[in-house]
Amino acid sequence: MVRFIDLGKEYLSIKDRIDSAMSKVVMNSKFVLGDEVSCFENEFSRYCCCSEGIGVGNGMQAIELALKGLGIKSGDEVITVANTSYFTILGICAAGAVPVIVDNDAYFNIDITKIEEKITPKTKAIVPVHLYGQPCDMNEVLDIARKNGLKVVEDACQAHGALYNGKKVGSLGDAGCFSFYETKNLGAYGDGGMVVTNNSDLADKVRFLRNGGQKIKNFHSEIGINSRLDELQAAVLRVKLDYLDNWNERRAQNANLYNRLLKNVILPQSKMDRKHVYHLYVIRCSERDHLKSHLEERGIPSLIHYPLSAHLQESFINSRYPRAVCPLAETYAHEILSLPIHPFLDKSDIEYISSCIENFAKLKI
Ligand SMILES: *Cc1c(COP(=O)(O)O)cnc(C)c1O
Repeated sequence: MVRFIDLGKEYLSIKDRIDSAMSKVVMNSKFVLGDEVSCFENEFSRYCCCSEGIGVGNGMQAIELALKGLGIKSGDEVITVANTSYFTILGICAAGAVPVIVDNDAYFNIDITKIEEKITPKTKAIVPVHLYGQPCDMNEVLDIARKNGLKVVEDACQAHGALYNGKKVGSLGDAGCFSFYETKNLGAYGDGGMVVTNNSDLADKVRFLRNGGQKIKNFHSEIGINSRLDELQAAVLRVKLDYLDNWNERRAQNANLYNRLLKNVILPQSKMDRKHVYHLYVIRCSERDHLKSHLEERGIPSLIHYPLSAHLQESFINSRYPRAVCPLAETYAHEILSLPIHPFLDKSDIEYISSCIENFAKLKI
């Protein structure tokens, strides 16, 4: 039986360090916004080549807080991509902004040729998503933003450690947003998130908004929210950060092996000028649903990221946000399949999964 993700195996590989980090927090009995959080903020922001990091409750609120911190307000328009976690959209909505959706490209990222036609006088920001772990075309996004006076908030929730032209994602735009949801490449034992930035004014603003908008305790000068990273999560994340590069490397090796073994499905394309960290390994197959059950019957779990594009979600349509036409994202929703890619898979697991996929493909030809 193959697992889609194996956090048990991961834990056993670092059990002693995790256990002592957690018991240290419990012994100190400081659970919210203490030393573990501020150390992890320093360590993770440095890892991202940013001068500031603000630990928050989750990835969605990282996006909300980064946008609010940059002055995005009710009625402003924010451009993002169709095939993404719907929490990208919800982060924009939580900031009071109107999400404006652009189609995906052949690399599953935002189609940079379709951004400018969506810009109106109300547009204030772009939220590019480094989907599945591959950085999107940031030079082009940043050029469009500069020309039109827009802010750029990177949704790097799937791309911890990914590189674009040798630079860490999260450090390229005005702010970078990360999620530490349990299954991400760097995952907590629950929820967590961070905003990273090189803009110290923005960092101060986000730090203050995440904690209720208090400048002085119990004096609330703005309407903030409660979105604080907790000490137990930060302690776990500090330990796991030491292994992130190695785990990302193992994901990339797994992807290379799939790339060699799979011949009869459409493989994910990666660009040479960037490092993909393979949060997900997503193939395409016109008989996706049959392939998915074929694998399930052979003990292989697979998932769909995502089965319904953001612009077609019921809550999006009911909110009367601007309609979008996204043919590629809609096609992907019917064809994409995420295969197990986690760092604790064995070579033999990938050989087995690949041979099951190849057998299915042969059956269909
Ligand atoms: C996980 C994820 C989010 C949301 O993160 P949460 O911590 O679950 O709120 C946002 N965007 C993308 C692309 C994600 O993968």
